[in-house]
Amino acid sequence: MNRRRMIMTAGAGLAAWPGGADAQSPAAEGLPLEQYQPKSMLHAPETRVARARYPVIDFHTHITSAGSLGGPAVLRFAASAGDCLAVMDRKNIRTMVDVTGGYGDSLREAIAKLATPHPGRFVVFTEPAWSKTPDPGYPKLQADLIEDAHRAGAKGLKVLKTLGLFLRDHVTSGKLVRLDDPRFDLMWEAAGALGMPIAIHTSDPEAFFLPIDRFNERWEELHAHADWSFHGKDFPSNRELQETRRNVMRRHPKTQFVCLHVADAEDLAYVSECLDSHPNMHVDIAARIGELGRQPRAARRFIERYQDRVLFGTDASWSRSTPQQTFSDALYEIYFRFLETEDEYFPYAPAPVPPQGRWNISGLGLPDQVLRKVYSANAARLLGESA
Ligand SMILES: [Zn+2]
Repeated sequence: MNRRRMIMTAGAGLAAWPGGADAQSPAAEGLPLEQYQPKSMLHAPETRVARARYPVIDFHTHITSAGSLGGPAVLRFAASAGDCLAVMDRKNIRTMVDVTGGYGDSLREAIAKLATPHPGRFVVFTEPAWSKTPDPGYPKLQADLIEDAHRAGAKGLKVLKTLGLFLRDHVTSGKLVRLDDPRFDLMWEAAGALGMPIAIHTSDPEAFFLPIDRFNERWEELHAHADWSFHGKDFPSNRELQETRRNVMRRHPKTQFVCLHVADAEDLAYVSECLDSHPNMHVDIAARIGELGRQPRAARRFIERYQDRVLFGTDASWSRSTPQQTFSDALYEIYFRFLETEDEYFPYAPAPVPPQGRWNISGLGLPDQVLRKVYSANAARLLGESA
């Protein structure tokens, strides 16, 4: 690792180090960035919230996954219903929405193992058949698949960032397919007509579109996940992606969209403008409390203003490489602390080093009536259930 990972380097420049630097001082030896784990010395209140104040619908989880782009649609379970229920009961999670249930037989299997035996505790969403998008008959076929999914018990449709950043004209080759490509119009309409909300992930943090250099605030995250960089090549910009999604919401006003990850968590003014112009738009907070919590005053104002359109979600998965979303008691406790308390300057993920960027967050201390909506009422309404 001879990259420029040293945050402190030996040399004459440290001669003026407070207390006097010499060849034996630890600072003079240098410290690789990945080993640096500073502990906050702030004497700030630490509130443990072991259980959510009100029952929660986690609108954004990945208990199953149904294969990658163009690959075989083989459903994989990251956890069993029982594994999930143990944590859910401890944490006051009423329902987990498994968004990546695939379609066809995969979807039926996910529903049979999660939703059917545990009514009310699990909800499963379907996904588009990306590998079929080049077929001339795709628009109708996809609309039929949505109807089939609805009959099978799917409650919504999940659209990964695949659309806009990975899917190409020939699935994995050719030009990138735009999010507002008309071949998906029948799909958006079918979901809307059946009352199935669309959980849609578009774009990613702005730093993922910038060079991975010393100015990039997500340098460590991008080194841990090199495939998350969308800098250069033929990738559209973050704003272009956001605008293509707005075109879709504008064209399909009767379809309800939940823009995942706060739509664009780093630019709440822009997200507010979008919410004001698209009444069919909602957002979830999954994997973005690191962004919301470092702008806690703006985030609280935002959630209070759009309190009927903000949903609780974690993006829960079982990968150890993304501690900001690894399903566990500890993860939920951080979300509850963030939403319920006014604690200041605490980690947004259960990890020795903040995985998305080296900062901490402060809690929002949301009022009870807002908390109830964010925790479950808004999601329940979209899912057609009672809160
Ligand atoms: Zn997700």
